Amino acid sequence: MITLVIPVYNEEILIEELFKRVQSSMNTMNEEFEVILVDDGSTDNTLTELIRCNEKDKRFKILTLSRNFGHQAAYTAGLSYAKGDYIALMDGDLQDPPELIQSMHNKIITESLDIVYGKRTERKEKFSKRVLIRLFHWIFKKFSNLENIKNIGNFSMMNRKALEAFLSIQEKNRYLPGLRSFIGFKQGFVEYSRPARLIGEPKMSFTKLISLGFDAVFSFSNLPVKICLYSGIIGIVLIFLAVLYIIIGKITGMAPLGWSSIIMSIYFIGSVQLLSVGILGEYIFRIYKETQNRPIFFVRKFID
Ligand code: UDP
Ligand code: MG
Repeated sequence: MITLVIPVYNEEILIEELFKRVQSSMNTMNEEFEVILVDDGSTDNTLTELIRCNEKDKRFKILTLSRNFGHQAAYTAGLSYAKGDYIALMDGDLQDPPELIQSMHNKIITESLDIVYGKRTERKEKFSKRVLIRLFHWIFKKFSNLENIKNIGNFSMMNRKALEAFLSIQEKNRYLPGLRSFIGFKQGFVEYSRPARLIGEPKMSFTKLISLGFDAVFSFSNLPVKICLYSGIIGIVLIFLAVLYIIIGKITGMAPLGWSSIIMSIYFIGSVQLLSVGILGEYIFRIYKETQNRPIFFVRKFID
């Protein structure tokens, strides 16, 4: 059996189209299916629309979370209910074409892989968003020490063994593409051009995307502490040079150094310290969150 996990949040206008596209893709394949639609605390009529899908086709099951926990938590919730031998993750706005499930499944079987992910050759989104995403992927690839992490997202399929490894990670700050790469196993990819979302506004707001970016960078690299360390070192070197300059000035009887240079160095040191404290704070906050050990999501209802 193949399980498709699809998180949705306030997507009432596209559920019907999603249902049609997913259903027709499943019907072209000679496999048993279940679809877990995760309602991530929607406040519009998404749930009613989802129940309609379940009434039309019992393979569509609904997992309702107790509130909005966010995209990555919604995927995690859905994955923990998946019963299939192969499990696919797919966004609900049809940016991850359901028709590709067949190629992923073929690839995973014929090449006896554990994980297949979608690699985007291009994406049709706003220019500013594409620039930001590219920048993020560039930084993340450089500093995370993870392999094959560029231009990939959540869209993927894995077998049960890989899923169990994936779910055994109890981390609370979750960046799923990073965790998927981290667990290893035999991985392959299929390339696709990522279309624009079918209709409506993105539900991952700008702030949500930025905080996901921070989750990724902070949980997979020590780049932030390194920035802090290096700017500290540069600052100290600069101060030595300044001290040398002041001493030479004194000895040669040049005019005493002005007020502005003092103020500037105070600002500089101050900012280096602030930056360092901020970065430390970020790590401490994350340690605090991990030790709280709160569940990643709560389920209100499961309809199958
Ligand atoms: N989503 C969710 N919870 C959220 C935000 C988004 O379940 O808090 C869902 C959303 O309905 C969509 C998928 O996650 O099916 C991807 O979201 P979106 O298209 O807004 O993100 P983007 O394409 O900008 O990454
Ligand atoms: Mg989208």
